[in-house]
Amino acid sequence: MLREYPLEDSVGLSYPTDWVGTTNFSMRRPNFIVIHHTAQNSCEQTLKTFTLTRTQVSSHYVVCRDGTVHHMLNDLLRAHHAGVSRWGNATDLNSSSIGIEIDNNGSEPFSEAQMNSLLQLLERLKKAYSIPQTNFIGHADVAPGRKVDPSRFFSWKNLAERGFGYWYDTTNVNVPADFNPVQALRIIGYNISKPEIAIQSYKIHFVPQDTINIINETDKKILFDLVKKYQ
Ligand SMILES: [Zn+2]
Repeated sequence: MLREYPLEDSVGLSYPTDWVGTTNFSMRRPNFIVIHHTAQNSCEQTLKTFTLTRTQVSSHYVVCRDGTVHHMLNDLLRAHHAGVSRWGNATDLNSSSIGIEIDNNGSEPFSEAQMNSLLQLLERLKKAYSIPQTNFIGHADVAPGRKVDPSRFFSWKNLAERGFGYWYDTTNVNVPADFNPVQALRIIGYNISKPEIAIQSYKIHFVPQDTINIINETDKKILFDLVKKYQ
């Protein structure tokens, strides 16, 4: 069927006389992991939301409070979890990522069983698809201002220590006078079209204890160190 014309491509072009069908293809491979919290109160509720046709939302995995992992969609297919999104030069993260939803209402800690299951899942996915260490990110990172998940209770430091994303060490860091922290956010991956909301997402991820969305001297040290790892 794929060798035959007519087929309409996604931009609606058609070249009846020039069509030469090929079957040399495969599914696309995910290159990013986007982590979320569900903002719901139970896994049952989330599984229901993600299977009702009218919602048109989904993710590849749901990690419940007791550590159970539900796989909901083949990793090679495009789930509807990230929405309008950007990280570095990658736009439309739904097309290039695996979405992992963690059952959490957004204002409570993540359970130990849940974090253990998540780490095991990340290990498998990183290996299976050779996902770069820089490409483990949160919904808030790719949709600043619009999304704040996973919340400040989520330990990205814990993930970075296991090779999923990077963390910083500000010991003996000397920041040059001409260092531009907003450009550093851009190099790390943030969309800086509105710097103040990019700063908010950076704080949620990297300085969760700090709820004031202003770049201070400590942030400059953190960003100066992080930029070397993410560039
Ligand atoms: Zn989300």
